[in-house]
Amino acid sequence: MERTEISSLGEFGLIDHLTQNNETRNASTILSIGDDAAVIDNFGKQTVVTTDMLVEGIHFDLMYTPLKHLGYKSVIVNISDIYAMNATPTHITLSIAFSNRFSVEALDEFYEGVYAACEKYGVDLIGGDTTSSQKGFVISVTAIGEVTQDKFVKRSTAQKGDLLCVSGFLGGAFLGLTILEREKKIFAETGAQPDLENQAYIVGKLLKPEARKDIVEFLAESNITPTSMMDISDGLSSETLHICKQSELGCIVYEEKIPIHEDARQFAYKLELDPTACALSGGEDYELLFTIAQADYEKIVLNEQISVIGYMTEKSEGVHILTKGGNKHQLIAQGWNHMQ
Ligand code: ADP
Ligand code: MG
Repeated sequence: MERTEISSLGEFGLIDHLTQNNETRNASTILSIGDDAAVIDNFGKQTVVTTDMLVEGIHFDLMYTPLKHLGYKSVIVNISDIYAMNATPTHITLSIAFSNRFSVEALDEFYEGVYAACEKYGVDLIGGDTTSSQKGFVISVTAIGEVTQDKFVKRSTAQKGDLLCVSGFLGGAFLGLTILEREKKIFAETGAQPDLENQAYIVGKLLKPEARKDIVEFLAESNITPTSMMDISDGLSSETLHICKQSELGCIVYEEKIPIHEDARQFAYKLELDPTACALSGGEDYELLFTIAQADYEKIVLNEQISVIGYMTEKSEGVHILTKGGNKHQLIAQGWNHMQ
């Protein structure tokens, strides 16, 4: 028997491999695998569905992740995918597996965060599953949302000449992770209490992210339908490449236009890290990456939460970043790959 290592395919190669023979049997399946969420038609009303799993030791470390924050984040990372479809989240189901090292009080704390996110984003927890694990905490959330008929936005529909836009600031979550990992290591080696250097912004960005409901609402109020959209969970490079590949286009990103919070930039310099690299390859920012027609530029230009970072080109022109120094580099995905 031949044995193929999963690492030889990578995460996206593996998903392609496992789903290559997947068939659609129902006319109500409007959009299947390959986007932030699937879309199901219910006699004109459209339902959006997405699932994400968080595994202890892979996606979070309980040494420095408060359970309440983890509960909150578990909901956020899922509804972020619903907003990325230009839809509104309405319901979630939540399944958990935990070992006997967890107490009722610990799970109560986790659920406090879950309920806080449900309240803030107006979603209802409507079910789930509870089971045990030999070791570690595993969380699986399915989020369901609704979208006006045919108003959902895919990754594959950007047009040549469209402006590439991003919400908020990038790279912060990766720097938050970096400081928490550093302090964990120092604690393990010396027992010294963590010194987070008052880095509330970057630590908050990692431990308590928000979903960009406000951006989706702003776009609707401004009468803008993005031509493509996704959320940024794996880093700007990886996600830009997804939009380019699925839309069969190229693009140019301007380094100087990539929004990086001043606190994140200063902390990156302190660690001798390149802030741009943190934005391109660091994950978990949960901002939105989208394209709009050039004609919509005037409508977004005054919104400080939206940055235009580049534009879409012919596929044959490739995917490039133009650096502050005037050099052009091919954009490559060095996003987090939990399997390698
Ligand atoms: P996101 O980061 O936006 O959650 P992913 O990269 O996890 O998206 O997934 C990309 C697409 O592949 C989605 O449509 C997702 O539903 C699908 N997918 C991921 N894993 C599997 C799997 N094991 N079986 C079927 N579909 C999957
Ligand atoms: Mg996504």
